Amino acid sequence: MSVTVRFAPSPTGHLHIGNVRTAVLNRLFALKHGGRFILRLDDTDKERSREEYAQAIIEDLEWLGLKPDAIFRQSERLTLYEQAAERLKAAGLLYPCYETEQELALKRKAQLMAGRPPVYDRAALKLTEDAKRALEEAGRRPHWRFRLPEGSVTWEDAVRGPVEIDLSTLSDPVLIREDGSFLYTLPSVVDDMDMGVTHVIRGDDHVVNTAVQIALTRALEGKPPAFAHHALLRAKDGGPLSKRLGSLGVRDFGEKGLEAFTDMQTLAERFDLSKLSRAPARFDEEEMLALNADVLHQLPCEKALPRLERLGMALDCEEWEVVRANIGLLKDTADWERVLHGNIEPPSLSEEDRTYVRQALELLPSAPWDANTWKTWTEALKAATGRRGKALFMPLRLALTGKAHGPEMSKLLPLIGPERTRARLLAAGAGAT
Ligand code: GLU
Repeated sequence: MSVTVRFAPSPTGHLHIGNVRTAVLNRLFALKHGGRFILRLDDTDKERSREEYAQAIIEDLEWLGLKPDAIFRQSERLTLYEQAAERLKAAGLLYPCYETEQELALKRKAQLMAGRPPVYDRAALKLTEDAKRALEEAGRRPHWRFRLPEGSVTWEDAVRGPVEIDLSTLSDPVLIREDGSFLYTLPSVVDDMDMGVTHVIRGDDHVVNTAVQIALTRALEGKPPAFAHHALLRAKDGGPLSKRLGSLGVRDFGEKGLEAFTDMQTLAERFDLSKLSRAPARFDEEEMLALNADVLHQLPCEKALPRLERLGMALDCEEWEVVRANIGLLKDTADWERVLHGNIEPPSLSEEDRTYVRQALELLPSAPWDANTWKTWTEALKAATGRRGKALFMPLRLALTGKAHGPEMSKLLPLIGPERTRARLLAAGAGAT
């Protein structure tokens, strides 16, 4: 069986860390099984869906390295949903209801007070044709509910194991609103059938929907796909994601200079849905930044340079390889680009260190410089001043880079070159002005 999966966001906002996880799992599953990964934009809610978000989702997926094999928009497939709705109506499985929101709220309240679950009582099923006509004439428009079958729905969830949901605990779901627009359920089921979706991989906030969708698929004489409900992301302490983190968009990542996924194929080979933990996944921003730094520290020059160029930085491979271990985000390279090619702020050194730096200038080895120059220079300084360790190195590092930490000086020195080195020693030795 060939695998088809889909990622079905509503274009009502940007991709954020929560739904990106769903996209990643789907993309990996498709890669692993040589299947298709579809992006389906759930845009039947005209009020809230926006084309700019649809575009942003497409771009962000591509940036992340999760490019879909096909893109569909539900707003372009309404005829299919209408046909399915007609079939259900003809079978008596989709029925008109006229209750207002207020009336429904009152019913729920009464049920709760009587200690019963607030499940829709199917009063509309008992309406006579005359009663319906009277309501229509009084200006009421129906919304349409799917009549759930009796009994339970069960499935073997690829993440959660066996799941059973008793349908009598659920209200018949509204599939069509009063204004004739479709809620998410019917289009989703129709599309999963029409697109030959074999596996639905999504967050476990959809577990109950799945019971309804399986029932609806059967009502439409389809074969339900396999389901896998992954745990939603939580904060690193196990609590709910804060509003800030939960809405942290992929855009923010890109702008912050975070890396996209680099090798989905290798990840896919190791990927196994059944190994996904049922426990909530925890999102730790610090860990993400540390991972990001790891990725950058291994980023090959041919990948890094064009991106740096787009950020307005011209580095060569040797320079990149020297500085990359010292950045957490690609844009941090700018600091080192300045050290290599630009001007730095002279550090403020103590009187003693300024004297030392002036001495260092006098003992600077002559060009050409290579990987041994730093050693030659500092040995000479050690002999001349008796300084050692930090006292020997740190004023030089500060004078040459303006920073207390950074790449190995022996590698950095030849890249900074004699001219800049002299000028910086002179400036630092004279003291900040
Ligand atoms: N638009 C739905 C959501 O974003 C799709 C759920 C699904 O069927 O995967 O929650």
